[in-house]
Amino acid sequence: AFSLEGKVAIVTGGASGIGLATAKAFLEAGALGVTLVDLKEDSLSSAAASLSVESSRILTVAADVSDEQAAASYVRQTVDKWGRLDVSVQCAGISPVTGPVVEMDVAAFDTVIRVNLRGVFLGLQQSLKAMLASPRQGQGCSVVLISSQLGLDAIDHGDRTGFAGSAAYCASKFGVRGLMASAAQEVGPKGIRVNAVAPGPIETPMLEGFRDSDHVKKGNIPRAGYADEIANAVLFLASDAGSYCSGTTLKVDGGWSKW
Ligand code: NAD
Repeated sequence: AFSLEGKVAIVTGGASGIGLATAKAFLEAGALGVTLVDLKEDSLSSAAASLSVESSRILTVAADVSDEQAAASYVRQTVDKWGRLDVSVQCAGISPVTGPVVEMDVAAFDTVIRVNLRGVFLGLQQSLKAMLASPRQGQGCSVVLISSQLGLDAIDHGDRTGFAGSAAYCASKFGVRGLMASAAQEVGPKGIRVNAVAPGPIETPMLEGFRDSDHVKKGNIPRAGYADEIANAVLFLASDAGSYCSGTTLKVDGGWSKW
């Protein structure tokens, strides 16, 4: 049930962390092809090399996910290469420190929303269009959007410090779940499932800047998670193992948030 045999997937943010671990899990689950989308050609090349599978099963596309043409292009290139698109994982994201709302630089807010929300919207829109345009008209397709524990309406045990100072990121990650909920209802009747994953703190380059912050230290959990622990959850939702899940958010945070 966890097989992706014969299926084709896109993973944005695929050159690092959770995205790269997801691509690896998909290839191990038998995916015919995986497109890795990320900002830089060189990090994409080393990511692809680290996957150690036949190069014919990987396509790398250097693109900024918040660019509309770029989103249309990475989806088109995927369908051109393998003739289908079954799974789309929108994982690219940024988490710069933007500070409290009253002090926040508006341009910093815009940047976070542009990548984390507009980027996910564009990838979702272009992926759904391609899925619906296929001969199967979307049947059996799955989209997974990466939100965060900061996109849930509770974090740690009565102490909400995790939200303070993260308004732009929180807004983007709540927004991702809004996109997911609407899209799931819209395309559900066509047989396309749309879900979100909400990771807790995960050992990736993104966590570096936050490792010692209050909200990481205060979590009532023994350790941060590993990227492959999120990838396994994404694989569940992407594959037929998750065939009756749609419109849901899967929290994978070691038990941190009460949500
Ligand atoms: P990461 O920094 O290792 O990977 C993110 C990738 O996204 C990078 O390779 C980066 O180059 C790429 N990216 C950023 N902006 C882009 C753009 N405009 N266009 C294309 N690619 C872009 O971080 P990660 O931890 O693997 O994060 C993956 C996702 O998981 C993010 O959406 C993040 O918000 C979410 N998340 C991470 C954690 C965590 O603790 N690491 C927790 C909750 C949610």
